[in-house]
Amino acid sequence: MTSAGRFAPSPSGELHVGNLRTAILAWLFARSTGRRFLMRVEDLDRARAGAEAEQLRDLAAIGVTWDGGVVRQTDRGPLYAEAISRLSAAGLTYECFCTRREIQEAPSAPHAPQGAYPGTCRDLSAAEREAKRTVRPAAVRLRSAVTEASVQDVLHGSYTGVVDDFVLRRNDGVTAYNLAVVIDDSAQGIDQVVRGDDLLPSTPRQAYLASLLNMPVPEYAHVPLVLNADGARLAKRDGAVTLADLAAVGHSAMEVRDALLASLGLPGGPLEHAVAVFDPGMLPREPWAWPGLGGPHA
Ligand code: GLU
Repeated sequence: MTSAGRFAPSPSGELHVGNLRTAILAWLFARSTGRRFLMRVEDLDRARAGAEAEQLRDLAAIGVTWDGGVVRQTDRGPLYAEAISRLSAAGLTYECFCTRREIQEAPSAPHAPQGAYPGTCRDLSAAEREAKRTVRPAAVRLRSAVTEASVQDVLHGSYTGVVDDFVLRRNDGVTAYNLAVVIDDSAQGIDQVVRGDDLLPSTPRQAYLASLLNMPVPEYAHVPLVLNADGARLAKRDGAVTLADLAAVGHSAMEVRDALLASLGLPGGPLEHAVAVFDPGMLPREPWAWPGLGGPHA
């Protein structure tokens, strides 16, 4: 399989300029290294009807093109189930009956890193599990043998973060993102993952899981987020931040694309122009505050 990069939006609403900037970067990283570029819709959770079509339309409008068809996670349940069975057969999973509140209130295990699952259900007896199953359905957690792992990132260098007994399948039956992303990236031959740096802390978990499943760990590049005027992560409520909002005040998709490219120190115009001079080493390492594009044109 030839190597590939990807963009993997969650269809929970329209993409804003921060998401579009990350998509442009993922495209540039892939195309500048001769990779294919794939589109995967991460619709296991929080999907809103119509959002996928809007997102794909907006990506195409700024020139983010992809190879082949769109892959949807909701079509891939058997693949995720097979991976969980494989881990379970190797003794690498356990059932967890904790509510969020119970986890918050549990005393953390000695030396356990902040935010790690305290291990409450790790060593339940068969009889205890049997009794708990009558109260509520179980989530499935990974039985991790480590408490942290390191990954290499093109922009962040070596990054070490927590690996706990994280959830693989929620107790409502939905496959957890951390499992799905590992299975999909491997099954799709993705060897380069470019995404927002809010996901860097999840990356050691994903790389550890990939190694347990004998799947290759991709190259990672976690790119800076776009912020609002208050220095917080950009959100839909921050004014005209989607292509539709910006079109309503007179700005074309091409103008938005060019503003995003300029924020990266890259020439405007079709992305093919930017790819010719793209150099990850020259990228800004700081988050970018979205300056807006001004009001309606005269
Ligand atoms: N679906 C995730 C998001 O939209 C991205 C996951 C990824 O790129 O690994 O935030």
